[in-house]
Amino acid sequence: MQNDIQSILFTEEEIQHKVNELGEQLSRDFDNRNPLVICVLKGAFVFMSDLVKRMTIPLEIDFMAVSSYGQATRSSGVVKIIKDLDVPVEGRDVLIVEDIIDSGLTLSYLIDVLERRNALSVSIVTLFDKPAGRSVELEPDYKGFTLPHEFVVGYGLDYAEKYRNLPYIGILKREVYAKP
Ligand code: 5GP
Ligand code: MG
Ligand code: MG
Repeated sequence: MQNDIQSILFTEEEIQHKVNELGEQLSRDFDNRNPLVICVLKGAFVFMSDLVKRMTIPLEIDFMAVSSYGQATRSSGVVKIIKDLDVPVEGRDVLIVEDIIDSGLTLSYLIDVLERRNALSVSIVTLFDKPAGRSVELEPDYKGFTLPHEFVVGYGLDYAEKYRNLPYIGILKREVYAKP
């Protein structure tokens, strides 16, 4: 698996340091609001797990799964809810936890859904942001790192469902996804 990685962009230590900072900031901003923290499956599960351990306030968690890329490396623009929330969001302060924002299509769709369900507020925390890939206007409220316009894997992020368990973020060798 490591052999498929061309270079490491952020090490495990760098990521943990950033996640700790985000957790502290979110703990301050969401104090006394009992936020509903929503993990967007599958990619955000590693970040979500580390992040909520660094949030020192009462909160609730839930999960949502949406379809995005399939096995491609670019968004199709078609978003579908595969697994919906278990609880209503009406009147709640919602914090969406994303692994990475590229085109922004997935998130803008989700924000729309949650606002139509009358969430009190909808905030976004993403660990990685690729602003160069945007096809809709969308700025996360909290972000960890800005990435170049490259396809990355690890720390929850996959290519064809693999590499999610790498503890760091890296760029795949081109030959891995250019295989005939
Ligand atoms: P968007 O809708 O913003 O284009 O992309 C949303 C989702 O696509 C992300 O949450 C993530 O699951 C996937 N994605 C976007 N960029 C990358 C990337 O560089 N690597 C991987 N593995 N997934 C990505
Ligand atoms: Mg995601
Ligand atoms: Mg994926």
